[in-house]
Amino acid sequence: MPSDFFRFINGHLSVEDLPLAPLAERFGTPLYIYSRAALTHAYCAYARACAGRNARIYYAVKANSALAVLDVFARLGASFDIVSGGELARVLAAGGRAGQIVFSGVGKQRHEIRAALCAKVQCFNVESAPELHRLNEIAAQTGAQARVALRVNPDIDARTHPYIATGLKTDKFGIAFDEARAAARITAALSHLTLVGLACHIGSQITATAPYLDALDKMLALIEAIETDGAALSHLDIGGGLGIHYRPAGETNAEPPPGIEHFVSSVLDHVAQRGHAHRTLLFEPGRSLAGNAGALLTRIEYLKQSGEKRFAIVDAAMNDLMRPAMYQAYHDITPVIQRKDAMPALYDVAGPICESGDWLGRARRLAVQPGDLLAVHGAGAYGFVMSSNYNTRPRAAEVMVDGAQAYLIRERETVEQLFAGEARLPADALSYSQARHHAAQAAKIL
Ligand SMILES: *Cc1c(COP(=O)(O)O)cnc(C)c1O
Repeated sequence: MPSDFFRFINGHLSVEDLPLAPLAERFGTPLYIYSRAALTHAYCAYARACAGRNARIYYAVKANSALAVLDVFARLGASFDIVSGGELARVLAAGGRAGQIVFSGVGKQRHEIRAALCAKVQCFNVESAPELHRLNEIAAQTGAQARVALRVNPDIDARTHPYIATGLKTDKFGIAFDEARAAARITAALSHLTLVGLACHIGSQITATAPYLDALDKMLALIEAIETDGAALSHLDIGGGLGIHYRPAGETNAEPPPGIEHFVSSVLDHVAQRGHAHRTLLFEPGRSLAGNAGALLTRIEYLKQSGEKRFAIVDAAMNDLMRPAMYQAYHDITPVIQRKDAMPALYDVAGPICESGDWLGRARRLAVQPGDLLAVHGAGAYGFVMSSNYNTRPRAAEVMVDGAQAYLIRERETVEQLFAGEARLPADALSYSQARHHAAQAAKIL
């Protein structure tokens, strides 16, 4: 098990004080379960490491945007990193404060910028010169002054750090490092913008500290250069990306990620050593706060064998948890109740969707029977938020466990909800023969 909060008690997988099997009975499957204690524990590791330092934690909402999850972090005093107007609305609905929000994202639309200005978010992380001009124009219209951090691509060579699991996104994100100083001058010249900082975000599921320290060196040098041009930058946003354990304890990762406190301390010590301790450091963790606080429960529908291969066909699928299909991501999978009366065998755990990519785990040693429950671990981040309705599958329910309590935080969707906004053609649409005629004409033109 990758998490301290999901563990076996007398052969029954439990979260905090509750066994999981009764939750699956009560709420049905597939079911996302989150542990409030696990979310809190991860946040407090960041908070401890930031205590007494000039640093703040901005939860990256896209990792898991459930209102109840945002509520847990808001109560802990977290700030938030958002990437859309929708996420802005969620954070405000969950009790987060606009003045503690940074708005990231490469494609901010006018209506999103307007909403964020009206709400008075703390800062816009701007990714291009055209975005600077758009932001200035809308700020002028609304009579606001927008605080801006430039999101810079520090261009860290991924090859010198082969342990970065997902590599670096160098193409569409951020302002090119060499163009950042010019972008700072543009910002200074636009009357409704105030340049307050720089930001970067070098990737995700990063399992080493070294790339962060390299990025810091480049960003701090850039800050010094921009300040010689007359600007005063109060903060540096180092982004998110710290990795988590997806493998069970004991089974070694290729590279285990550093612990949260060690990681934060290393970054802050490095900034201090470079003489920048007066600058506020912003961290934007997503996965490392939520990832190991969640599991996806699913029930085995069928065990089948084709040739040499055995499959456990379960009721969760790629539409519920996309990461295996999308990134060949590994998630630990365990039974919810351990059995002694079934022979362990190697199974591919796959869903019912008509795609060969629809699998959750490959070649997993499991002792199971049809009808058994499985838990897919490490599903608290980039799990439910990436789910879809492919194959007209209603999205799963979500439950938050808090000690001995289980709260339904999102109802399972119904099929009726899935097509509630759809419409058939109106009754006075073309008749069958008219439509056929049209199609024939159109085909000739093509
Ligand atoms: C996705 C993202 C994050 C969070 O990344 P994690 O890997 O989940 O920590 C933080 N900042 C920005 C700008 C992002 O796009």
